[in-house]
Amino acid sequence: MTGSSVTPRKHLAIVVPAYNEEGNVALLRDRIAEVLSPLDRYSWGLLFVDDGSRDGTLAALRALAASDPRVRYLSFSRNFGHQAALKAGLDAADGDAVISMDADLQHPPELLPRLIELWEQGSEIVYTVRQDTAEVGAFKRATSRLFYRFFNSLSGLDLDPGAADFRLLDRKVVEAVRRISESGLFLRGMIHWVGFRQVAVPYQVGTRHSGSSKYTFAKMLRLASDGVLSFSTKPLRLASLAGCLVSGLSGLYALYAVAMHFFNRNTISGWTSLLISVLFLGGIQLLSIGLLGEYLGRVLMESKRRPHYLISERG
Ligand code: UDP
Ligand code: MG
Repeated sequence: MTGSSVTPRKHLAIVVPAYNEEGNVALLRDRIAEVLSPLDRYSWGLLFVDDGSRDGTLAALRALAASDPRVRYLSFSRNFGHQAALKAGLDAADGDAVISMDADLQHPPELLPRLIELWEQGSEIVYTVRQDTAEVGAFKRATSRLFYRFFNSLSGLDLDPGAADFRLLDRKVVEAVRRISESGLFLRGMIHWVGFRQVAVPYQVGTRHSGSSKYTFAKMLRLASDGVLSFSTKPLRLASLAGCLVSGLSGLYALYAVAMHFFNRNTISGWTSLLISVLFLGGIQLLSIGLLGEYLGRVLMESKRRPHYLISERG
């Protein structure tokens, strides 16, 4: 407790969502303790959010929390997803700053001092941007780049491609994010949206220490559609635009058919073109209805105001 009587030490809360990460949690604690031990101006706590893991993650967290007073955990009643786990961590974390990072050591703990330094220099959000290396698979790189381009052009936000959920938030920002209660969480977009003084830090992704990626393709798709549909209504406009375009084209085609009828009496225009235009229009209509349905579904989910997650155990 030396020196703490003069200025109280600032507290850093580190939030880590963990889904089937039994082989990683203890090592992550060790690595964080190692990097933060020279920074004795701060006290810190580690809050794991067990997102309904089916392996020994919860047991590992219980043991860790029992042996280390800096470690706490929440455990969900089932798998609610990475974004919900992050939200739970932000809701429960007490710190002058809250840092979120993945459990698998792909977010290097060695970067923490740099994040803290930038925060001390006045940034309220210090976010990291993944530099693509061979550690990230080619498929993930390509789909993620495509997504960010698409997302930025639809939402009008300007997210960095490779923006990760590895960041430091000042307490003020955490309080702002806690007030967001919408379903279809896309925290990356949300944190960009809240404003505040933001700064980016590039980093190289490490290799996953143990286990395999928990982001299945379906989960990635879900995250991407939540991101786009909760930040933009432009796709609705695109659907009407496509409708106009197709009707315009069919109008032109009708003129052409009439002209053919007068100039070339004995040609019976083929039913192929008819079939094609019917099918094409049908396709566009289904697409637009589907899109409407997506938004309507989200309005339904939103109106239920269900909690983002349910906690079955705390420690
Ligand atoms: N995660 C989670 N719930 C899920 C999927 C993932 O809490 O449903 C956590 C996971 O334990 C990890 C982080 O989210 O700490 C990122 O997941 P992962 O490393 O599998 O994703 P990738 O790095 O492959 O994008
Ligand atoms: Mg990972």
